[in-house]
Amino acid sequence: MIKSGMNDPTMNADAHKPVVYIISAPSGSGKSTLVNELLKKVSDLEFSISYTTRAPRGSEVDGRQYFFISRPEFEQMIREDAFLEHAEVFGNYYGTARRFLDDAARHGRDLLLDIDVQGAAQIQSKLPDATSIFILPPDRKTLEERLRKRSEDREEVIQRRLDTATREIENYQRYNYILVNDQLEDSIRLLRAIVRGERLLRAGRELSTEEATLVANADLCRLANVRTRLQPILESFRTPVSSRT
Ligand code: 5GP
Repeated sequence: MIKSGMNDPTMNADAHKPVVYIISAPSGSGKSTLVNELLKKVSDLEFSISYTTRAPRGSEVDGRQYFFISRPEFEQMIREDAFLEHAEVFGNYYGTARRFLDDAARHGRDLLLDIDVQGAAQIQSKLPDATSIFILPPDRKTLEERLRKRSEDREEVIQRRLDTATREIENYQRYNYILVNDQLEDSIRLLRAIVRGERLLRAGRELSTEEATLVANADLCRLANVRTRLQPILESFRTPVSSRT
């Protein structure tokens, strides 16, 4: 048996303090699929549905992927201090409503935020206990191919997303865990290990052998343990070979 060391004696046993998980990734990294699979596989985890001023895409439904609102409505919510964080991404506002954190606490559940690097920085300064996970594509070429395959965007939008990805990726060091999304099944398994592992560590009790294995799997994704693997990925973004014709 292995003893975990992160017991928090100041926590009121009656009040649930949600673990807040932040997931960020450049657009096209496969984040939405991973988040959806994670929500199916892990219990007691609520997804924070963000507010945005961008228009719904494809099959998106108001109140499911996002709450789609107008710019004046969003600005009114900013004035009312309704957001835990908000940011402008690709020319649109996106924000996390404070009430999701309160709701998760009341429901005795944890909270998952799918937000960009600016929003992540705001949450990290307000909620330093939050667990942050950065998802990376295996290299720039793969990201470019995935963005093209989606074929939702015009060429200039694809290029803009690639440039943004290059900038966003440089923020990887601000995250607790880094997940390279190469094989979907492996990524889902690791993401699940990170989420469950954090819960186990925070529970501060003895871990069974199986639980300790899970925590060890999650540890493989800790920033300190992935630095070598990251180097070629970062290089591929710093010296891009564009597949534009
Ligand atoms: P998309 O428009 O492709 O759904 O999302 C664009 C970017 O906005 C993604 O990086 C996504 O993580 C981010 N995003 C979604 N919701 C929020 C939010 O509430 N706050 C912030 N800061 N970013 C968000």
